[in-house]
Amino acid sequence: MSSSSLTVQKLSKRYGEFVALAETDLTVAEGEFLTLLGPSGSGKTTLLSLVAGLARPDGGAVLIGTDEVTYSAPHLRDIGVVFQNYALFPHMTILENIAFPLKMRKVQAEEARRRAQEALEMIRLPHIAQRYPKELSGGQQQRVALARCMVYRPSIILMDEPLGALDKKLREHMQLEIKRIHRELGATIVYVTHDQEEAMTMSDRICLMNSGRIEQLGTPGDLYFRPQTLFVADFLGESNLLPAKVEAIAGDEIALAIGSRAVKARALADGKVSTGDTIHIMIRPQNLSIELAKDGDDDRLGATVTDVMVTGSLTKVYMKASDEELPDLLAAFPTRASGQTFRIGNVVALSWHGTDAVAITGN
Ligand code: ATP
Repeated sequence: MSSSSLTVQKLSKRYGEFVALAETDLTVAEGEFLTLLGPSGSGKTTLLSLVAGLARPDGGAVLIGTDEVTYSAPHLRDIGVVFQNYALFPHMTILENIAFPLKMRKVQAEEARRRAQEALEMIRLPHIAQRYPKELSGGQQQRVALARCMVYRPSIILMDEPLGALDKKLREHMQLEIKRIHRELGATIVYVTHDQEEAMTMSDRICLMNSGRIEQLGTPGDLYFRPQTLFVADFLGESNLLPAKVEAIAGDEIALAIGSRAVKARALADGKVSTGDTIHIMIRPQNLSIELAKDGDDDRLGATVTDVMVTGSLTKVYMKASDEELPDLLAAFPTRASGQTFRIGNVVALSWHGTDAVAITGN
């Protein structure tokens, strides 16, 4: 399979007055695994449908490699599509199901059978060729849907919540399968999910959408550790978001005063902040250290433990900040064999490394 890049330029879609996709620019590199992530209604499926040719845009262009396909019929685009609802033809055997797209493309019967069998080997189910869809588990059917999409070797594969219907264990297994197939085929994949863990583990880059716009585009690490807006910080994983005033700037490091007691802190910034600005800093729970407060701890943020949850490998400590201007806080650390270290009602002092706190200037 040869892969192609995918480009959308100023692509937009309205339903009446409602803007489902604002003018959007996006390039997915050849062989890249890009995930569209975002809350329900943020425009993920709309963008995918425009790329697949299942909906007509109001403006803009879709290019596969350098070929413009904006208004081409879906079957004339070199694109394979796998949706959550992966309906296989119930009256056809699995082999016939997989060979079907080839038959549609007038591939000779013997050759179609051979390639369908090859696709079955690819999804590691060579023994089910003569079964019917109702004789397969949900996960097996999902793999067959993948095989049916791959068999004609599209250079771009679009997947819309392909694992949405599967239970957690099967879902995780299929995530690995899809990644393996991606590695083996080298196809360009655009994948839609609203499961953020799935997006983080599978993607080369994530495109986080919000209200029909791209909120931020970057590697999973970029979005997780360097969110540009509060929306991104809040959407991806758990975070502590503290309002803070910028007191001084030195290179990419800023000095801050947090809350009504102007507790001093440091954070990293990307150059968009000015002295005197009120911004937010984000600290991920695993980067927040806590210890029982001692007398004279006034130079650190204080909090009272409101809940402790041990989730197997992680212990999560929920806290109410002593400063009423600040939101509730969360720290997380590996659970120790020696047992719980904090109790509800403990008064604690918080600290973190300046390089683990990130300034966020956008909403
Ligand atoms: P989900 O995660 O729930 O699938 P999504 O991010 O894929 O959501 P879209 O399906 O792209 O969101 O929908 C974007 C917005 O466009 C939604 O508010 C939706 O209600 C609206 N929309 C989608 N299709 C139509 C349509 N045919 N007519 C009117 N509005 C539509």
